[in-house]
Amino acid sequence: MRAGGAVTARVPAKLNLQLAVGPRRADGYHGLVTVFHAVSLFDEVTAEPASQDGVTVTGEGADRVPADKDNLALRAVTALRAAVGGAARAARVHITITKRIPVAAGLAGGSADAAGALVACNELWRSGLDQQQLGTVAAKVGSDVAFALLGGTAVGRGRGEQLTPALAPATAYHWVLAFADGQLSTPDVYAMLDRLRARQAGAGGEPPSPGAKAELGTGQPSRGGARGERGDGQPPRAGGPRKVGPREIELSAALMTALRSGDPTRVGRALSNDLQPAAVALFPALRKTLAAGLELGALGALVAGSGPTCAFLASNANRALDLAVSLSGAGVCRSVARVTGPVPGTVILPDPKTAK
Ligand code: ATP
Repeated sequence: MRAGGAVTARVPAKLNLQLAVGPRRADGYHGLVTVFHAVSLFDEVTAEPASQDGVTVTGEGADRVPADKDNLALRAVTALRAAVGGAARAARVHITITKRIPVAAGLAGGSADAAGALVACNELWRSGLDQQQLGTVAAKVGSDVAFALLGGTAVGRGRGEQLTPALAPATAYHWVLAFADGQLSTPDVYAMLDRLRARQAGAGGEPPSPGAKAELGTGQPSRGGARGERGDGQPPRAGGPRKVGPREIELSAALMTALRSGDPTRVGRALSNDLQPAAVALFPALRKTLAAGLELGALGALVAGSGPTCAFLASNANRALDLAVSLSGAGVCRSVARVTGPVPGTVILPDPKTAK
């Protein structure tokens, strides 16, 4: 166990470059195939010895984060303690979270904080769990926690916790995030997707053909979509209205090829999010935000995870700056941030007392 001191971990937000959602399962969850992408918007999580477990949250949206055992970071502490046993059983910690990742914004900030707490306590307690062992604990805490540990760009399956790093050249992608004036609850968005799918099935929507799977899943608004999109926030497409499933889900070959090419234009075209129609149905202002970003020259746009943050891909850092300035002037979001991805997962920051 580390004597006295505190350990601080830095944790990234994530985007889903693809989010394919299967039908609701008997256990209430939806099977996923997703491509996670960690971006340079970070929370910091500090763990220090204390007489009892506790959490303090400061920064962006702190008042909407539970400051008790329901905080995902404290749940992670409890899960780690159970996994390692020994001296950790008696150890109590205070967790301090500095939030920059907006809360309930589709960027998995809570999961990131849980990953930060795992890594910081693993170090503080000298528990010695390796990345894989931490990943196993992470998966018990929440679906996105294992990815927040790993970072980079990775394919997630199951509930998102079965991860395979994506092989791709070291391209830095430049994103603009548009933060919304409001939040969306992830369970509400999934429930809306189920309703939209049930409605579509009831209206006699044809079952999707296997060959059309990837296309049916795409939520990527094209330039044309920016100007003439439909009510579900998706672009108009030849051949009738877009289906919202449910269906077999599979990894987007178009996206994986685009990532291997390192070409942001191709990646922009291949972005997709099955939750987007549901997020837009619950938060109709997103339609305008997505359309504005595309009008202003983004290579691609999508709702981040369950929303309501929107993410826009730019061709380079200068275009991202132009886009960020124009979007914030367009009055279609609360604020904007420029980020790059992929970035590493959870890292321990040097101790300011010993760092030169
Ligand atoms: P999800 O990870 O489910 O997609 P999200 O990314 O949209 O969610 P989060 O910021 O992770 O949103 O918050 C989801 C919920 O988790 C919020 O209602 C929040 O109160 C709760 N929560 C618990 N602990 C935390 C935490 N440390 N940081 C942020 N939210 C937390």
